[in-house]
Amino acid sequence: MSTDQTAARDAGAPSASLLESIQPVEGGREMHDPATGERVGRAPEAAVEDLDAAVARAVAAQPGWAAAGDDERRKAMHAAADAIEARAEELADLLSREQGKPLNGPNARFEVGACVAWLRATAEFSVEPEVIVDDGTDHAELHQRPLGVVGAIGPWNWPMMISVWQIAPSLRMGNSVVIKPSGYTPLSVLALVEVLNSALPADVLIAVPGRGDVGDRLSRHPDVAKIMFTGSTETGRSIVKAAGDTLKRLTMELGGNDAGIVLDDADPQAIAEDLFWGAFINTGQTCAAMKRLYVPDSLYDQVCEALVEVAKNAPMGVGREEQNVLGPLQNAVQRDIVARLVDEAKAAGARVLIGGEHDPEVPGYFYPTTLVADVDAENPLVTEEQFGPALPIIRYSDLEEAIEQANALEVGLGSSVWSADVDRARQVAARLEAGTTWINKHGAVDPRMPFGGAKQSGYGLEFGEHGLKEVSQPHLISW
Ligand code: NDP
Repeated sequence: MSTDQTAARDAGAPSASLLESIQPVEGGREMHDPATGERVGRAPEAAVEDLDAAVARAVAAQPGWAAAGDDERRKAMHAAADAIEARAEELADLLSREQGKPLNGPNARFEVGACVAWLRATAEFSVEPEVIVDDGTDHAELHQRPLGVVGAIGPWNWPMMISVWQIAPSLRMGNSVVIKPSGYTPLSVLALVEVLNSALPADVLIAVPGRGDVGDRLSRHPDVAKIMFTGSTETGRSIVKAAGDTLKRLTMELGGNDAGIVLDDADPQAIAEDLFWGAFINTGQTCAAMKRLYVPDSLYDQVCEALVEVAKNAPMGVGREEQNVLGPLQNAVQRDIVARLVDEAKAAGARVLIGGEHDPEVPGYFYPTTLVADVDAENPLVTEEQFGPALPIIRYSDLEEAIEQANALEVGLGSSVWSADVDRARQVAARLEAGTTWINKHGAVDPRMPFGGAKQSGYGLEFGEHGLKEVSQPHLISW
């Protein structure tokens, strides 16, 4: 046993055996728990040449996988879901320690469960050949073929679940996949891929843990047909440029700054819990979390008070302590972004209802659950994506103004409307510029419902039949 494996055992890590199989024999990069600074393990670091070798293997494996047929692929995906279920606690433990999110609440166990749910649901979707014309003279059918090798590039906030969102439809349609995890959470994705591969043929799924240069090479690689990317708008732009020379297909899930609008007929007590979790799921580090909340004058104080009550009862702390439902930020850069934005809002005269002070004595990258009232609609805490546990609550007196402000930003991933009258909420929803608008909930993704961004939040759809078509080559046959 290597020194590192011994150290992992000494730290009492229950996921040592998965860690043993994914850590390099020597070298690699030390990964630490964002909540405690404790060592988690060592992540291998691939170079650009390793990526090229992985793509070559994926190219070689893809035709056999495509030829295996729908039933075989469906079975393999269910077997992969079984394998995750069998090691769910081990995966959740590693995810909690590397990403920082608590085991409990809508966090690490929830994320591993979502991987299973998405694999099983995606296995059961299919796209049948579509008869386009059949008029006795002309006939045309539209088939969906595999593209070849799909490159997946993912973020650090939901590293396992978002990987499955990219992997599952690609595999289902007969593509092979080369995935590059975020440099912040490589172990989580390597462990997930290790478990998935116990049920898949060799080389149809390969993880290459490297940094941005490896992602860049994947985006340019002539043998990669498509990139599925989730991450920042800025990196998304680089990938679009890099992919241009080979005319790669792209699905871009980029940053958002989702607005929630409470209408004046809503019941503050009834919606408070869902409003809170719509914003604070994964400690606010969620692309489609609510990041600014517009509340009418008539309900403003009641909504603020109800949210403070929920916040007080949502413990934040170290991931493996079962009572916690909120955790640290995953990294110092993100923690500092949240702290800066809240400080700027305070300096501009906003009123902190709870939280709002980063305590440098607390170890780890924690920032307290923060609700900020009486904040100006143009304040950076409202107009920039905080991606953390700080929600600005903006007061409005005219609904038209709230709709205008909700639509004013360049991004448009999700949005939500909160009302006792669903028909009224639907009318407001129809006017919001976003890929999804939820009513009386926020961020409730579902494998059956297509999900994607508007404006600078990206393009392309994930999930369901629409998601399968995104990783397919349409092929019309006409006679
Ligand atoms: P990034 O866009 O920086 O990184 C996402 C992935 O892209 C990582 O795997 C990263 O690798 C990789 N990458 C970096 N540079 C390149 C490149 N030139 N070509 C190809 N791949 C590259 O996002 P982060 O995860 O660091 O998060 C930063 C911000 O992105 C957040 O603050 C948030 O605003 C937004 N975000 C949005 C998400 C969403 O779901 N829409 C999810 C997560 C973040 P590496 O990390 O190893 O450099």
